[in-house]
Formats: sequence, C-alpha cells, structure tokens
Amino acid sequence: MSRFLSRKFETLKPYTPGEQPKATGRLIKLNTNENPYVPAPAVSKLINSHEINDLKLYSDPDASILTAAVADYYGIRREQVMAGNGSDEILAFIFMAFQGRSGKIYYPQISYSFYPVYCDIFKAEGVEVPLADDFSVRPQDYFGADGTIVITNPNAPTGMALSSAQIEEILIHNRENLVVIDEAYVDFGAESVVSFIERYDNLMVVQTLSKSRSLAGARVGIAMGNEKLIADMNRIKFSFNPYNLNRLSILAGAEAMKDRRYFEETRRKIMDTREEFVKDMESLGFRILPSKANFVFASSHAISGEEYFDRLRKYNIIVRHFKDKKICNYVRITIGTPEEMNVLVQATRKILG
Ligand SMILES: *Cc1c(COP(=O)(O)O)cnc(C)c1O
Repeated sequence: MSRFLSRKFETLKPYTPGEQPKATGRLIKLNTNENPYVPAPAVSKLINSHEINDLKLYSDPDASILTAAVADYYGIRREQVMAGNGSDEILAFIFMAFQGRSGKIYYPQISYSFYPVYCDIFKAEGVEVPLADDFSVRPQDYFGADGTIVITNPNAPTGMALSSAQIEEILIHNRENLVVIDEAYVDFGAESVVSFIERYDNLMVVQTLSKSRSLAGARVGIAMGNEKLIADMNRIKFSFNPYNLNRLSILAGAEAMKDRRYFEETRRKIMDTREEFVKDMESLGFRILPSKANFVFASSHAISGEEYFDRLRKYNIIVRHFKDKKICNYVRITIGTPEEMNVLVQATRKILG
C-alpha cells in the first residue's frame, strides 16, 4: 500500500476472480462458468479492417445497436435497456446508486461474492440473509425489507432457482424497495422476469452476455427496468465513463443477441450435457444441488471439496472451490463440452479409486 491511498480504502478487500491461466493448452477449464462454445458465427465476421479503422473514433455512448437488439429480443423499449462493461460494471452502478433510504442492501449469505465487495467500496451496509438448510433462497425472508434487495437467480454457486412467481412475491412485498434480479445464468433453464419490468417499477433485471452468449472476454452486461430506473443508471454512467463499451464489443453483443438459432442450439447442448453429467456424478455417489445454471455444485462423503479440487488439478482440470465454511465441502463445476465432462468423470473415478 502506498502512502497516497485514501484512508477509506485501506481496509478494502478486493474480489478474488477465479484463476485465468495464461496457457490453457492442456487444461480443461471449468472454473469460471464460461461457455465452451465459440461466439455466434456473425461475431467472427465483424472484425474486419473497416471496424479496426473505426477504432480511431469513440464508441457510441448509448451502445444503440446493442440496446436495440436486446430490446428487440425481449419485446421491450430501448429506454428500458442500458449496456455496461460486463454486468460487473452494471452491478457496480447499482450498488453506487441505489442504497435505499436506509443505506442497506440485502442479498443471500451464499451468493455472488462480489456483492459484499461493492458494499464495501460504495459504503453501503450489506445485510446477508441466510439460505434455508437445503441451500434455497426463501422469498419470505425478503418481504418488507428496508433497503435494496439483490438476488441472483439462479443463485451462484448453488445453481438453484426461484420461480418467477416467487420473485413476483418479493416484488409485491417490497413496493418501496428496489429489487435487483441478477440473471447471469437464467438462460440455462430458469424463468426470466424481464417481462415484469412493465408492471413493477421497483424491478431491475441484470443480465450478461458472458455466459449464455459466449462473450465473457468481450465484457458486455445489460440492465433492464422501468424507464426512470434506466435514466438513473445513465445518470451514473455518464458521470463515470460515458464510452463504457468499446466499438467491437457493442457489435459483437448485438450480433450475439440477433442470432437466436445459434443461441438456442448452444444453450440446449449445455443443458443436455448438464443432465448427463449429473447422472454420471450421482452414480459415483456425489450429491448435486438441483441446477438451472451452466454449472453444478457438487459434494461427496468420500472426499473433501478441497482435496477433490486439488486432485482434479493434477489431471489438468480446474474447477472452483470456496473456502467459506458453509460450502467448503463443495466444488463448483462449469458445464463444458460432453467430451470435457467425460474426462472429468473418468478422472473422478480414478480419484475415488
Ligand atoms: C458471471 C457473473 C456476473 C458477471 O458477469 P460479467 O458480465 O462477465 O461481468 C454477474 N453476476 C453473477 C452472479 C455472475 O456469476
């Protein structure tokens, strides 16, 4: 720490991203929920010399072609959509802007571990709401809260989802609170609540093109909500980084939204692979939480989470292990291609002897 850092950041504990190995050649990388399939075909066609020459110009601060493609996909208006440099940036704007009158932000105790970091940096009071014993989020625990509510649906790292009716209950019981639903994984089998933004002005839906649209490296996130909420988001964005998306990512994001056939095909493959993989792991004695995401949360009585993680690493397979006591016996495994999952299952057989 230099002697120049502001006092208020001396105790800041940054988010620890999953490992991103420099050389991925022989590795099977199942640790950060990326998509195993390449982006939609139109994305690779768009990086031509024309687009490269245009990099001399600033990007569109409204990312219009991207927000239009998102609005078109969901049948909503452009004024109800905003784009961010990954949904991490969208979430940062939300934690910066919407701390409620109480300054409190409620989220599940086991969830995306970036939420407490945002509370820390933006000086909100994070309130962690415990999960039920089966790791599910209990909607009633959020009824009548006195601050903003942030729920990942499906939740991470459990993969478990609430129904849209359950989320609607949370909205109805919090008319005076903003309810943020982080739908990073919603395309892998859960129900989106985007259509609710028309009816509930206290709803903000956050999505990302990193997972189901194969664009993690392009950094494209989306916020959807009532026009006034989106105007507030733009107020923050235009006070912080107006050209937050680069030209190539805006184009890539728009193309990825437009190619519905490729999207349907790849997400279907991932869901099918997940179901096969769950059966294989259960036959090896693993407990797998019911997942609607492109990952599963797995544990076994035969081996600790940490040891299983270490042993897989020796087979050049990386998964994610969290040290938190409540979940340290689990590993989170991203769903890759069927071939990758078979290699993992074979390695697991050998590890268990
Ligand atoms: C991956 C993830 C994000 C961040 O996605 P980016 O758009 O890549 O920044 C946000 N929320 C959750 C719950 C995630 O798992």
